[in-house]
Amino acid sequence: MKTPMSDYALGAGLATDLINTAPTGRSSGEALTSPTALGRFLVEHGVEPYAMLAAPRLTTDDLDEVRFLRKELRALVLAGDETSVVTGATELLTRAGTVPTLLRDSAGRWQWHLCTARVAPLADELGALAAAGFLGVLRTLGHARFRNCASPVCDGVFVDTSKAGRRRYCMPALCGNRLNVANHRARKVTGEERA
Ligand SMILES: [Zn+2]
Repeated sequence: MKTPMSDYALGAGLATDLINTAPTGRSSGEALTSPTALGRFLVEHGVEPYAMLAAPRLTTDDLDEVRFLRKELRALVLAGDETSVVTGATELLTRAGTVPTLLRDSAGRWQWHLCTARVAPLADELGALAAAGFLGVLRTLGHARFRNCASPVCDGVFVDTSKAGRRRYCMPALCGNRLNVANHRARKVTGEERA
């Protein structure tokens, strides 16, 4: 897979979404229930791994390997120190046989890219994409952007690539709302008690 080095939000965003497909902390359970669900996830995120060009039909081995990668990525987000993030991300880049090279962008200008080996398994390609994102975020935005979800009922994690850096939830639409609903109910109950 070809990844522009400057686009750390792409890899970090995919990593966050991939980690949070796991049943950990999700009330809705496992999101990657089958190879087909994994394929849908990849299409939704607009990634084009070499592995899928070679064999578009995903297998249960692909699914198992991506589920395992999810755990590795989660551990990297939760790593207590920056050096562990760099070491772990470098290991993921190495595993996929990643090399830096120049490729032309749509305007014909040379841009730095990371390319995984053509023979790398799907999970290794995704791992390299996520790792490149993690390293870019660490260098540009800092380690404080690797966070736990602020919802007290969620164990999700995320990497905040927003400009302001004020993201609080792993799945803002879900975890933020869930908390708002809980607060609203609590206020309502307190109000009823007072009445
Ligand atoms: Zn959450």
